[in-house]
Amino acid sequence: MPDPADSLRVPHANDMKIDAPAFEEIAARYQALEARFTAAPDPEARLAVIQEWDGLRCHLDSWRSLTHLRFNQKTDDREHRAARERCDELTPRFQRLDVSLKRMVLASPHRKDLARRLGAQAFALWESDVMAFEPAIEEDLVREARLEAEYVELLAGARIRFRGEDLNLPEIRRFATGPERATRHEAEQARWTWFTDHQTDLDRIFDDLVHLRTSMSKKLGLASYVDLGYRRMQRVDYDAADVARFRDQVRDQVVPLAATLRQRQAARLGVERLCFWDEAVHDPRGNPEPQGDHAWMLAQAQEMFDAMHPDLASFFSMMRDRGLLDLQARDGKSDGGFCTGFPIWGVPFIFGNFNGSKADVEVFTHESGHAFQFYRSGDMELLDYVWPTAESCEVHSMALEFLTWPHMERFFGDHAERFRRNHLTDSLLFLPYGTAVDHFQHLVYESPGASPDERRDLWQQMERTYLPWRRYRDLAHPAAGGFWQLQRHIYINPFYYIDYCLAQTCALQFWIRSRQDADAALNDYVALCNRGGRLPFQSLVRSAGLASPFDEGILASVVGQTHDALETLAATCSRERC
Ligand code: ZN
Repeated sequence: MPDPADSLRVPHANDMKIDAPAFEEIAARYQALEARFTAAPDPEARLAVIQEWDGLRCHLDSWRSLTHLRFNQKTDDREHRAARERCDELTPRFQRLDVSLKRMVLASPHRKDLARRLGAQAFALWESDVMAFEPAIEEDLVREARLEAEYVELLAGARIRFRGEDLNLPEIRRFATGPERATRHEAEQARWTWFTDHQTDLDRIFDDLVHLRTSMSKKLGLASYVDLGYRRMQRVDYDAADVARFRDQVRDQVVPLAATLRQRQAARLGVERLCFWDEAVHDPRGNPEPQGDHAWMLAQAQEMFDAMHPDLASFFSMMRDRGLLDLQARDGKSDGGFCTGFPIWGVPFIFGNFNGSKADVEVFTHESGHAFQFYRSGDMELLDYVWPTAESCEVHSMALEFLTWPHMERFFGDHAERFRRNHLTDSLLFLPYGTAVDHFQHLVYESPGASPDERRDLWQQMERTYLPWRRYRDLAHPAAGGFWQLQRHIYINPFYYIDYCLAQTCALQFWIRSRQDADAALNDYVALCNRGGRLPFQSLVRSAGLASPFDEGILASVVGQTHDALETLAATCSRERC
């Protein structure tokens, strides 16, 4: 854990620069490491080689993060794009070197001693990594990265004509979630017309990706991309059958509850039938919005973290001091929010697209959770432990969204209670959507020969199962089964989605505990972040005193308690007009 006082060693984000590594030079270093590892007489000597290798991996990982961050900040900049292309070409070549060394470590006669020193989790992750790669797929990985970048650039370049202005996707989203129904409808019409206009490209990119990913899994001797996808996600302590059982529980226990929440929402909005353009809005006054601009938000956030915990306070002042936040929407910037990190400096970076809506606060607290965990894990003995696997990472982010609840007055004033109710409602409503996205991807990769039209049918099956209230009416693109094409993960992070649902089941447990004892919940949260990725998902969750989402009855219990609390909040809000 780097001391905040040491942050002077960390360059300001604007000055961060890492030269692209020369492949031959890196290959020679790997060759030397392999030779030393083979010749090492004892576990100590082998450990020294692993530590040096880890330093090299941290450097390459930081270079990759920085190159991709710069591209996302300015997708229309030729230099950034060229650097990203070079990075995407080199990454699979470095992966080949890395996998070769991982194989050597896994086969080492000193494996037991090494696992005792480094922890068993690294070995489980490396087992997963070596099964997900062969040199035969190297060129396929380069092509895959190119297709993913094409999708990101296409969406980042969207200009949508709306009421005399040209808007990008985050900007139009604000109108699509505003208080006036007619405006929301008009904004959705404009947004989805852009998708109709680009359907050929969106279909082609995804079709190419599905075929490419399927062909890679065949080359690795796997039945379908589902197997490869799970290995690339490094799911080492649960499998596709566990996920399928979890999805069934969402379908049976959460969907009916979500349907009643949608009915209540329609009643509150005073509409006979909820349409797609109503779904994001929870009452006729519109959603609460943060009451200041970007600079004001950052100042409020600092005060909030100062009041919460000394570790959060020093973390956030370091982030501001070092310029590790890029939160405002700009043309050419890619859509969405994410957190990345630079292991060589031990600091994270938060990327967002603020548009003045409540989502700014949600994205900000979410990404701050990721960033805080990364910062607290800076001193882990292996790069593999700096982040845990994705579903664990999402516990850090989604839990912080709830643990910051008592401070929402700082952003929303008198509307904080309304924000909390919306947030909790959305947390339940998210589970069916997230599950639909996951189930869809399983179906897509189980039938890789399906046509784009057949994939639209598959998505519509998912909507009927998990989102039966959904009505697109005259929005032609989603009405024909194309909604999923705006879900970035489906294109660029396959199978990264159920992670949010698993994590939500854990984050809600943090929320339940925080209502009983806020300080204890926050201390447990900080301790979980300090543990980094040394354990697999279910062990990490249990280490924080939570139940695994795969435990019998836990989803029903968590969702039931959340629903009860929503009933109480709804009663309070109607009395107090909050
Ligand atoms: Zn996240």
